[in-house]
This record gives sequence, C-alpha cells and structure tokens, in this order.
Amino acid sequence: VPLLRLRGVGKSFSNGVTALRGVDLSIREGDFVSLLGPSGCGKSTALRIVAGLSSPTTGRIEWQGEGIGQKDVGFVFQEPTLMPWASVFDNVWLPLRLRGVSRREAEPAIRGLLERVHLSGFEDAVPRELSGGMKMRVSIARGLVTKPRVLLMDEPFAALDEITRFKLNDDLLDLWRDQRFTVVFVTHSVFESVFLSNRIVVMAARPGRVHDELEVGAPYPRD
Ligand code: ADP
Ligand code: ADP
Repeated sequence: VPLLRLRGVGKSFSNGVTALRGVDLSIREGDFVSLLGPSGCGKSTALRIVAGLSSPTTGRIEWQGEGIGQKDVGFVFQEPTLMPWASVFDNVWLPLRLRGVSRREAEPAIRGLLERVHLSGFEDAVPRELSGGMKMRVSIARGLVTKPRVLLMDEPFAALDEITRFKLNDDLLDLWRDQRFTVVFVTHSVFESVFLSNRIVVMAARPGRVHDELEVGAPYPRD
C-alpha cells in the first residue's frame, strides 16, 4: 500500500508558469525516492505540495492509513535555516518544543540524534561556529527529531563540497537504513540519486511531467 499518492497533480502560478502537469506518483512506506530532473522542472514545487506548503491547482494528494498526514513530515532544505543565536541543541529541540516537549524530556532523543550525525560534543556551539556540512547535519537532526514518517529533502547537499556531500550521503543512508523512515529527495544529481535511492522518479524538463521511473533496488542490503 502506498503511503502517499499524487493523483493528477498540476500547479500553475499566477504569473502563468505551469510547474506541474498531471503528475501521478505513489510513494511506498520505507522508500527512498529521488525526484531527479533539471533545474526548473518542478521538483521543488512537487515537494512543497507534498509538504502542504503549497496547494495543487489540479489533482490531489492522498495519504493512506489512519491518522497519517502532513504532521508526520520532516523537512530539510538546502539552506539549513538554523536559529543563529541558538545552540545546536536548542536548534534540534525546536520542533519538539513547539509541540510542548520540555528540554529535559527531549534530551535523550536529541543527544542520540546528534551522535548519529556525528555532532556529539557540539551541543552548545552556535551555527556560525560550524562548517556548512555540520550545519546540514544539525538540520537533518532537527528534521528527524519528531520521528516523522516521511522526510522531505530539497537539494539538501547542493551547496556543499564534494567530499562533505559524499560523507553526508553515506550518513543519511545509514540513518535511513536503521530508522526506516520514508524519504523524498529532490536532486539534479544523477550520481546522488543512484547512490541514495531505491526509486528514481525522472522529471521531464518540460512541461513538468513525470518522464519515467526507475526501480534501482536498495543501495545497501536491507537485512
Ligand atoms: P525545480 O525545483 O525543479 O528547479 P521549481 O519547482 O522550483 O523547479 O520550479 C518550476 C517552475 O515553476 C519554474 O519555472 C519556476 O520559476 C516556477 N515557479 C516555482 N515557484 C513559483 C512561484 N511561487 N511563482 C511563480 N513561478 C514559480
Ligand atoms: P499557494 O499554493 O498558496 O499558491 P505558492 O506555491 O504560489 O503558494 O507560493 C507562493 C510563494 O512563492 C510566495 O512567497 C512567492 O514569493 C514565492 N515565489 C514567487 N515566485 C517564485 C518563483 N519564480 N520561484 C520560487 N518561488 C517564488
């Protein structure tokens, strides 16, 4: 059963641009799906619609199962958008804090996640003291701290150097393999999509359609 289904999703903006046209797509629980395509093909628009940050002009999004919905979604954007004055710990705490979880209650989960993203010992650092890669690690921890069913990632590593990007790809896969959340990963990198995903959705440059889908198999043995 798919976790999430897009049915005939289209999106046009008031300036006349049509970013998506009749997109049909199913995302299964536990999938690591890449949305791959050139700049401007509508990847971010599709992700924003899944996230509930934008509404489709035509078609609809269906969430399967009891009580699942957009509240079970975590986000990681290319810009880590961390609170600059707040510590690493407090940045990761934020989504839980907004749900009324105290610092003390949140602490074990936050420490565990920071360890998983190799940031143990940096709890009290503030973002300007961190490299771009480390900020992205904070952003991933923040995206996962509410234990979302689905993690949406919009070109998260595009601004990072190759080596940092490679390490982050590896660490993200380890996290996914252990915790089995569903990932929708927007990228224009063929390498990244093949390395990371078990499904690649290729989006055509024009006119914002799904062009093809490839089943590439799990990149790691999944026990
Ligand atoms: P991608 O993520 O694949 O680079 P986008 O989804 O960002 O593509 O954009 C698809 C098309 O829609 C582009 O032509 C872009 O300029 C346009 N677009 C995206 N968002 C808006 C918006 N809010 N208003 C007008 N046009 C937009
Ligand atoms: P809605 O679903 O409510 O129509 P949109 O997806 O149209 O929301 O989002 C509108 C937002 O996108 C505005 O904040 C606007 O500033 C921004 N925006 C406008 N033009 C573009 C563009 N070409 N590319 C990306 N974002 C844009």
